[in-house]
Amino acid sequence: MAGPKHSCGVVGMYCSEDVATGIFKALRMIQHRGQESAGISVFNGKRVITAKGPGLVHDAVKPNDLKALSGKCGIGHVRYPSAQNKADRNTEPIEVEISNGVIAIAHNGSITNYQELKKKYLDGLGWTFLTDSDSELISKIIAKHLIQNNDPIRSIRYTMSEIEGAYSLTILYNNRLFGVRDPYGFRPLCLGRIEDGYMLASESAAVDIFRGDFIRNITPGEIIEITEEGFKSYPSASLSQHRAHCMFEWIYFARPDSVIDGKEVYQVRRNVGDILAEEHPADVDLVMPVPDSGRAHALGYSIRSGIRYEEGFMKNRFVERTFILPDQKQREASVVMKLNPIRSTVKGKRILIVDDSIVRGTTLLKLIKMLRDAGAKEVHVRIGCPPIIAPCYYGVDMKSRDQFIALKHTVEEIRQQIGADSLGYTSVQGLVKAIGLPENDLCLACVNNKYPTKIHEEVHRFQARLKENY
Ligand code: AMP
Repeated sequence: MAGPKHSCGVVGMYCSEDVATGIFKALRMIQHRGQESAGISVFNGKRVITAKGPGLVHDAVKPNDLKALSGKCGIGHVRYPSAQNKADRNTEPIEVEISNGVIAIAHNGSITNYQELKKKYLDGLGWTFLTDSDSELISKIIAKHLIQNNDPIRSIRYTMSEIEGAYSLTILYNNRLFGVRDPYGFRPLCLGRIEDGYMLASESAAVDIFRGDFIRNITPGEIIEITEEGFKSYPSASLSQHRAHCMFEWIYFARPDSVIDGKEVYQVRRNVGDILAEEHPADVDLVMPVPDSGRAHALGYSIRSGIRYEEGFMKNRFVERTFILPDQKQREASVVMKLNPIRSTVKGKRILIVDDSIVRGTTLLKLIKMLRDAGAKEVHVRIGCPPIIAPCYYGVDMKSRDQFIALKHTVEEIRQQIGADSLGYTSVQGLVKAIGLPENDLCLACVNNKYPTKIHEEVHRFQARLKENY
């Protein structure tokens, strides 16, 4: 199984001026991809230096750090919080020193043969590891190859042939900057031109703040090198394999103003709402989003159905992420702290709420009760993706099968459990249509249980249990 790695955000920048402040700004633009910790590494002309720490970007990297991080090329990382692993030592970028210099890595994704490779290098070659992060493993394998050939492109390629799973990487090797995307393109990574240089980022919204030009997405399997002269592409040698872009990036994870693999997140969510209105119509007075990710889905539903759109929940932005809290009581209490209904919108109305997904059902159970307490006459629910039934091994924090309400219950049973008057999920075909890419180019493993890559032991055990449950 993968190491404790989750959907994070990465940045890389090469300019004629110092890049640390630019990387800092770009990281703040993708802060939603990770709030547990953040860090920046730059090459200062002599060596790679790093500032990193726990918290949001501005907590982790202070103004004094930015002054000290003087250099024209660098990388940055924001790390996603997870209940299981909060160790500071896993904070990125992760550095590995070899005789020719330092490699620093920022990684978004999850390596599916992490345990096998770690065992191979621990037991077979006596390597030691300071973290339980797959990013350290990747950097050490690159380092191993670099020691042998001192050729970063070859070393990254060799590493790509060893590691499996999801990885979008920004890599700094002394004064050389690289962007890498795994051959399936699970997680996003894009390239942009900014005033005095080039940048890489998980999401195109990070390029926008520099009034930069979005050049393109890094293609699956491609390595990009950025130098003073511009960028150079080293495309994947094998073009036969299909892609597997994570559908959850569009549905939940990415910013609505980002464009991922040619499809704007906002537009995809609007399309989902549109399709939901066709697939699951309702006789209600108004459509309300569960903020924030349900907004564009709800708007799409409202426009297609002609039913009025209203904001019926006030969101407290300063409450911790409910999803990752370790126990159910805390998660439920936190939902109440996070969202509060606006009574005048809700009272006496037949309401339809739209959320992006149901995992455990915690959020909706609480929200529906709140709406009824606030005087709602009926509460109907529509969901922007199909029932989630299988764990993600490619970087989204949905790992344990016990989490998924839809694994053990039918839609009707879920409706009863959350206390809704009706419940409708987007179909798999509807989701694919909304994204607008061929089904074969998407990773839908969490909703159809078909993994695009080989999954090792743990997953086979999971599959066996899955069969027992049906
Ligand atoms: P639950 O309350 O367990 O059913 O989780 C569903 C809610 O959590 C939805 O409102 C989603 O927006 C959000 N959500 C879904 N997946 C994730 C994730 N991997 N990390 C954080 N939040 C999530």
